Amino acid sequence: MQQLADPEATAGTPGRDMHALASELYPICRSITGDGLRQTLDVIARHIPLQRFDVPSGTEVFDWTVPREWNIRDAYIKDRSGRRVVDFRACNLHVVNYSTPIHRTMTLAELREHLFTVPGHPTWIPYRTSYYKDAWGFCLSEAQLAAMADDEYEVMIDSSLSDGSLSYGECFLPADGGSSDEVLISCHVCHPSLANDNLSGLSVAVFLARHLLARKRRYNYRFLFIPATIGAITWLALNRERTSRIKHGMVLTCLGDAGLFHYKKSRRGAEVDRVAAHVLAASGLPHEIRDFMPYGYDERQYCSPGFDLAVGCLSRSVWGEFPEYHTSADNLDFVTPASLEESLAVVSSIVDVLDANRHYLNTSPCCEPALGRRGLYRSAGGSGMDDENLARLWVLNQADGKHSLLDIAERAGMPFALIERSARELMASGLLVDAI
Ligand code: ZN
Repeated sequence: MQQLADPEATAGTPGRDMHALASELYPICRSITGDGLRQTLDVIARHIPLQRFDVPSGTEVFDWTVPREWNIRDAYIKDRSGRRVVDFRACNLHVVNYSTPIHRTMTLAELREHLFTVPGHPTWIPYRTSYYKDAWGFCLSEAQLAAMADDEYEVMIDSSLSDGSLSYGECFLPADGGSSDEVLISCHVCHPSLANDNLSGLSVAVFLARHLLARKRRYNYRFLFIPATIGAITWLALNRERTSRIKHGMVLTCLGDAGLFHYKKSRRGAEVDRVAAHVLAASGLPHEIRDFMPYGYDERQYCSPGFDLAVGCLSRSVWGEFPEYHTSADNLDFVTPASLEESLAVVSSIVDVLDANRHYLNTSPCCEPALGRRGLYRSAGGSGMDDENLARLWVLNQADGKHSLLDIAERAGMPFALIERSARELMASGLLVDAI
């Protein structure tokens, strides 16, 4: 297990690199389809191997249909003097995502039903979408709205909704030993300029893939960079046969703020749930484990009853529970390199434990083997038993093929890393073999 970062510590290179990736992606106007989404995938592809898939508009995916593709070039509300009082070029949240095109002059009274603000936060701009209903609108701050005189305005949205495709990216890292079992890591890539709810999960996923690229892998790892909801539904519809290979999975989101960690369990209850709880407890970081519920991010698609996959969701603050959620205040200052780095350490530890959690058999199960003559018993010199020795005894005692290393770590009340290191030493001495 990696050492977890101290929350007060300044971030090292991974934290700064993840924040830099989020900063590069932040200005792009993303949606569930369109050029911004593909541009985002192009940037990710510079960091990790990524295959892009384009699914045509109109494709039936279970009870849904891949929508028309949305693209936007410009949008504004101009006052009588020609000044842009609301300007898409200043912030892409100003336009309701998936707005239909419009170019008209109208009074403020007519315009009002198309305007959205964040009550109680005078300078924040809300994030709104209208994916599945033809509509248009603008999001602005209460202060901007208050400054608009009761007058006529030129309203323009230069957008298009046309047949195209839904694009998503997959990064597949094959197992070293030829296993067909997979770990699924999924994050959404469809929000425009929002940092925690979108770019943080994406950045941590990219750097987790890099962590895994650099080491041996027992499992295959499949990373999905997909638009929320419709992307997960589309992927599941196109990969239905493949889902039986998924043994563990996690949705990563909201991992860059300073809030405590939250892990939401899978619907079925799974090894990944136990591993996440173990890693968070061992980290000493404040955290909360929550039960499954059928709303949230894409875990609700992976955990729909027709699939019921072993997929949980890891975040820091939870969607809808922090004031900045889905507003312009969820910006690059709200996510910090130190929080991203700490999140990467937790996620990497979870994956490392999953990858190393095996069952073993003690080859000398009749009484304790003589560890001293194998150099595996260090005399403590006193009456106590040190952790290294005790961990070996726990592993030997429990390695009957029925208990995994995580079972042993939990029963012993010891960190997984210590139990795993003991198992490796015992393997090297011939006292332990893989349980098939
Ligand atoms: Zn969101």
